[in-house]
Order: sequence, then C-alpha cells, then structure tokens
Amino acid sequence: MAGLKHAQETTPPRRVGLFGGSFDPVHAGHLHAARAALAAFRLDRVVFVPAAVSPHKVGVRLASAAHRTAMLRLAIADEPRFDVSEIEIERGGRSYTIDTVRDLPARIGAARECELFLIIGSDNLALLPTWREAEELLARVQPIIVHRAGEPAVVLDAIEARFGSGVAEKLRAGYLQLPPVVVSSTDLRARLPRGVPPGTDLPAAVAEYIRVNGLYTSGS
Ligand code: ATP
Repeated sequence: MAGLKHAQETTPPRRVGLFGGSFDPVHAGHLHAARAALAAFRLDRVVFVPAAVSPHKVGVRLASAAHRTAMLRLAIADEPRFDVSEIEIERGGRSYTIDTVRDLPARIGAARECELFLIIGSDNLALLPTWREAEELLARVQPIIVHRAGEPAVVLDAIEARFGSGVAEKLRAGYLQLPPVVVSSTDLRARLPRGVPPGTDLPAAVAEYIRVNGLYTSGS
C-alpha cells in the first residue's frame, strides 16, 4: 500500500515528485533521476508510479504489474524519501498522468497545499506538450527534466515555437543538465537474456529478483 513506508511520519509531504514509467525493469538511471530531482528541488518525497499501460507503449508486452512493482519496492527499500504507488495499476487501462496528478496527493496523504513536481527523462520532453490535457497538466505541476541525451536547447526552442514562452520557461526552469546515467530498460531487456551481467545498471536486489523469478529470459 502506498504510504505505509511513511506511516510513522507526522508531517504530510508538501513537495512531492511524481515519477511515472513502465519500470520494466527499474534501473540505475531511474534512481539517478529521482535522486537528482529530490536534491535539486528539495522534495519531501518522490513517488514512483508504475503504469498499467503507458499511452506511448500500447501493445508493448511488459513484465506483470506485480513484478514491476516488486522490483521497484526492492530498488527503493533503502531510500527513506522514495515510495511506490500502485494508483495507475489499480485504475487500470491506459495510464494518463493528468489522472494521477488529480488523485495522487489525497492518496498519499500529502499536505493540502502540496506542490507536485513531474519527473521525466529528457527523452520524453519533446512529447510532453502532446500528453493528455497537457495545458492543465503543465499548469498543475512543475516538470523536472533529467538529462539523458541530445541537445535540450533545440527541443526547448521547438516547444517554445509551438506552445509559447510560458510552457517553455517552465520546462527550462525544470531542466537538470547533469552528466547522464546512460542505461535504459530496453537495453537491459536485450542484455539480460544474453547473460550479459548488469553490473551497476541494476540495483543488486533487483538483479537477484530477476534471476530468481526467471524474468527477461527471452529478449522480450
Ligand atoms: P524503455 O527503454 O523500456 O523505454 P526507460 O529506460 O526509458 O524504458 P521508463 O520506465 O520508460 O524507462 O522510464 C520512466 C521515466 O524515467 C521516463 O520519464 C524516462 O525518460 C526516465 N528515465 C529512464 N531512464 C533514465 C535515465 N537513464 N536517466 C534519466 N531518466 C530516465
């Protein structure tokens, strides 16, 4: 259950990072992004939200929601400010971030005046203005964009040309131009069946969970 990890806390979180994704599997890049966002924006909490079905990955076969959630819980076990919410899995169907933004604060017992921060990797930046109810979404959250690859200025200029300076300024303010941690779930799903050791790309407990449960054996 979301929130159980923080049941002892007396102060409801006010600055909450929402970090959605497939997490198939969660890896060192995700943890890097969450830690960077937490530090740069002084967040009280980062909530990892595994998608039931990502609108950008419809038809893509994923490890089960139970496995993806279990791996997330192992990955964040030692991180006191990180949590996992199954809000999108329980809702089912395509997972739209705007729905989660509306429901998450109450669900995790956040403060009434809570501020939401939407954590994404920079590969998602160009598409963000096309997400469902993007204008409403961007009005409700401060995006935090963690650099992965490419040249952000080009993407931000293109967004400004199409959506105006207000949206672009908010995105620029949230851009974390840090040295990237170059790892992806796609790459891991390709490497693991070939027996390539994940090294530091996977938290040890997640690597062990994958081994014990026989996940990612066929390069799916
Ligand atoms: P896939 O390779 O299957 O597309 P992914 O590695 O991009 O997966 P997701 O679970 O789709 O992982 O990503 C969830 C969020 O985490 C997205 O916003 C994505 O951009 C971000 N993210 C993933 N990997 C990194 C990374 N190495 N650095 C920063 N952000 C990342």
